[in-house]
Amino acid sequence: MDLDTFKNRFLNKIQFDYELAQFTWFGVGGKAEILFIVEDLISLSDFLKNKPNELDILIIGAGSNLLIRDKGFKGIVLLTKKLNKINIDKNHIITAEAGATDAEVARFARNNLRGGLEFLLGIPGTIGGGVKMNSGAFGSEFKDVLIDVKAINHLGQFKTFTNKELGMKYRGLEISEEWIFCSARLKSFKDEKINIENKMKKIIALRKEAQPTGVKTGGSTFKNPIGNKAWKLIDRAGCRGFKIGGAMISEKHCNFIINSKKSTAKDIEDLGEHVKYKVKKVCGIELNWEIKRIGTK
Ligand SMILES: Cc1cc2nc3c(=O)[nH]c(=O)nc-3n(C[C@H](O)[C@H](O)[C@H](O)COP(=O)(O)OP(=O)(O)OC[C@H]3O[C@@H](n4cnc5c(N)ncnc54)[C@H](O)[C@@H]3O)c2cc1C
Repeated sequence: MDLDTFKNRFLNKIQFDYELAQFTWFGVGGKAEILFIVEDLISLSDFLKNKPNELDILIIGAGSNLLIRDKGFKGIVLLTKKLNKINIDKNHIITAEAGATDAEVARFARNNLRGGLEFLLGIPGTIGGGVKMNSGAFGSEFKDVLIDVKAINHLGQFKTFTNKELGMKYRGLEISEEWIFCSARLKSFKDEKINIENKMKKIIALRKEAQPTGVKTGGSTFKNPIGNKAWKLIDRAGCRGFKIGGAMISEKHCNFIINSKKSTAKDIEDLGEHVKYKVKKVCGIELNWEIKRIGTK
């Protein structure tokens, strides 16, 4: 389908030149050429089957690991937040749609007396973003709890990947970037509510102690290099509290960049690149971005 026919066909489902800053934790970034809010999988498949090849796709879950650049995204942004059902079957397997938040899933598991998913309470993302990043906290990661995931590609074709087929590694996957995650099946174990709640309370307390809260941030900026901690290296390189424009390295956790005033995406990215340079110079170690930087500079 050519671009004009496509735009006309989906006119009542898409929005043009849509501000994206509101969809990310950093609260920065330009506009999406086209925004499509995913409501269900049938309409998503139809949309993708008709999508002209030249249009790129960006998926946004909770936007907690995303830096969208100031000139925005040329192509289609798919927002998954309305795809958020969670259920449990007779074998106690929890299925969560991609846009369900990790915290909602943690609470759903607790309400059904299922343990093992408490760590999700500490990750401010969605299930889709969590699978994509193999996110983790407090000694558990998605890889430990994921059974399989239903996905759709840019041609609108569905496929289910087992945990093993995804090639889940530290904050990433081996499979091709083209897959959009639709829902995930998660394993858990029977537990008592009091045990689950105690673990959850501990997680919340530890978070408050170690991380800046109530601020605009993207979480850990860099992956931990093997055998090292990114925050320690950043501290050693003298970058704690360092600022560029409105972007600042958190005083509390120096692997976090904060949009402290009216920062631009450029301020945040420049600050990250400066930190990378300093860490390489002082510690001789190359940091790699964990935050996904997307869009036109
Ligand atoms: C305060 C704070 C604390 C954090 N703490 C942790 C932590 O302890 N551990 C941790 O691992 N992370 C942490 N993060 C980072 C972030 O929360 C996780 O990476 C989270 O899983 C990202 O999910 P999301 O829905 O926000 O993804 P987004 O930020 O929306 O997207 C991240 C990436 O996933 C892709 N994506 C999103 N949804 C889908 C989908 N359905 N299908 C395919 N691709 C998709 C996006 O295109 C993008 O490439 C933290 C972030 C913040 C702001």
